[in-house]
Amino acid sequence: MNGLTKKCLITGGAGFIGSQLARRLLAQGCEVTVIDNLFTGSKSNIYDWLDNPRFTFLMHDVTQPFWGQFDEIYNLACPASPIHYQRNPVETIKVSFLGMMNTLELALKTKAKVFHTSTSEVYGDPDVHPQPESYWGHVNTIGIRSCYDEGKRAAETLCADYIREYGVDVRMIRIFNTYGPHMHPHDGRVVSNFIVQALQGKDITLYGDGNQSRSFQFVDDLLDAIQKYMQIPQNELKDFFKKHNMDIPVLNIGNPDEFTIKELAEITLELLPNTGSKLVYEPLPKDDPKRRRPDITLAKELLGWAPRIKLREGLPKTIEYFKKLLENN
Ligand code: NAD
Ligand code: UDP
Repeated sequence: MNGLTKKCLITGGAGFIGSQLARRLLAQGCEVTVIDNLFTGSKSNIYDWLDNPRFTFLMHDVTQPFWGQFDEIYNLACPASPIHYQRNPVETIKVSFLGMMNTLELALKTKAKVFHTSTSEVYGDPDVHPQPESYWGHVNTIGIRSCYDEGKRAAETLCADYIREYGVDVRMIRIFNTYGPHMHPHDGRVVSNFIVQALQGKDITLYGDGNQSRSFQFVDDLLDAIQKYMQIPQNELKDFFKKHNMDIPVLNIGNPDEFTIKELAEITLELLPNTGSKLVYEPLPKDDPKRRRPDITLAKELLGWAPRIKLREGLPKTIEYFKKLLENN
């Protein structure tokens, strides 16, 4: 760092989480560069800062190398919604692996600190519940979700080897289902689908019997955890994970409050009464995980962090966002 302004690069910074992170870092006085090919991201997420002298947008595909001197690189580029990552599966596994490799090569050459967003999908359809970091997962290598799950697993492997072989300072998190403002209205994930369907008076589409579960985290809690994690000195991080018999820093970040998808639909309708929306049942997509809930013991101990925003607080904030968005379009 030059001692004045922290320089941050966010790959995938025009997406849901990346743009929220960019907003925070800019508000904290950092210089922020976003690299994004707008596959699922949107210029509207970054539009407000296009004339900010501390902000740069580069339209670029991270499967191709990129260059720049940064203090911190946040690697978020990758479509995260099943319908989008399955739309172009070869591209998905390429962006997970090659995007990660290009990020790590840049960090190696420039001594930047790397933050990588892995996912609870590395646990697949888990047969251990809740899922701790030490669980190796239960993942289909050749299914329709594999382009994402295995891409993210390979990216973790790359991070681990750049840490062991070259000493690159990499911090990984496995994010569990996160929602909030700036999700794309047609993103296809369950929270945005249900809210947009209810706001438009359309049927709420439950896949399967709706008894599968997820644990939903509001985006602000995730950003708090990311920032706390990045502030910890590398030697302290090493000592902490060594104490837990791990040589690689990887943390589950999510909200352990678990809901069935049917409960989520019912809460959404409770918050948006009089919409006329009904629950309808559609086929369950293949390999859809049955249960998911993070064990966040490590994150609590390392970061002194726990999610603060309950689903019933985070959903109204997200509903407000979509209400305004739909009114203006
Ligand atoms: P998102 O789809 O809104 O954002 C992803 C961004 O990456 C988009 O702006 C997209 O255009 C960009 N992108 C995709 N391919 C690219 C490429 N080849 N080159 C450059 N940019 C590219 O998704 P999100 O929810 O903001 O997720 C961000 C990251 O967090 C992803 O890596 C995702 O896997 C991870 N994650 C998210 C969740 C969640 O619940 N939101 C859960 C687990 C992991
Ligand atoms: N889902 C649903 N209706 C929808 C979208 C999703 O019932 O309109 C279900 C989906 O089958 C899964 C859960 O909600 O069981 C979460 O799906 P999402 O795509 O948000 O994320 P995932 O955790 O599966 O990656």
